[in-house]
Amino acid sequence: MNYANIKYCDIANGSGVRTTLFVSGCRLHCKNCFNEEAWSFSAGEPFTPAVADKIVASLAPDYVNGLSVLGGEPTEPENQRGLVDFLERVRATYPDKDIWMYSGRTWEQITRGEWHIPGVTDRILATLDVLVDGPFVQDLYDITLRFRGSSNQRLIDVPATLRRGNVVLWQDDPVFATHMM
Ligand code: SF4
Repeated sequence: MNYANIKYCDIANGSGVRTTLFVSGCRLHCKNCFNEEAWSFSAGEPFTPAVADKIVASLAPDYVNGLSVLGGEPTEPENQRGLVDFLERVRATYPDKDIWMYSGRTWEQITRGEWHIPGVTDRILATLDVLVDGPFVQDLYDITLRFRGSSNQRLIDVPATLRRGNVVLWQDDPVFATHMM
């Protein structure tokens, strides 16, 4: 797996201060994609053990809330296989920090469709706190939305959804949960 970028002290892709990893490779090709340069699976640099170590170390300070994984597309089969051990390591190392993942595919596609990889996808989902799902749709773009670009995208509370068996939305801080600001 290659990665296109890493942002440290990121506040745009999840709650609080985060380390954000952008993996390379996406076959979805949404219109007006924010990160077209990451469509190629060979974009960027190899995700080596040294890179993984650096990310894990960056999560240690108390002011860092957690890790976010974007793309490219993390649910491409190559990327799921490249991420699963790393995400389990982050979860085990920092049980009190949160892990967010952004996918252009829906929860239903990831959990029941062709993108569900036996022995891999469920392990990834077990590490996540929030999955932001669905493609970016330009016609549904809304600048007032937090942590997502278009209104079709959902912020899914993954542990609650796995427990309940149907999609449970993540609850934002009440002050941000409406457009009343
Ligand atoms: S899924 Fe994400 S990276 Fe892929 S084309 Fe859509 S917006 Fe771009």
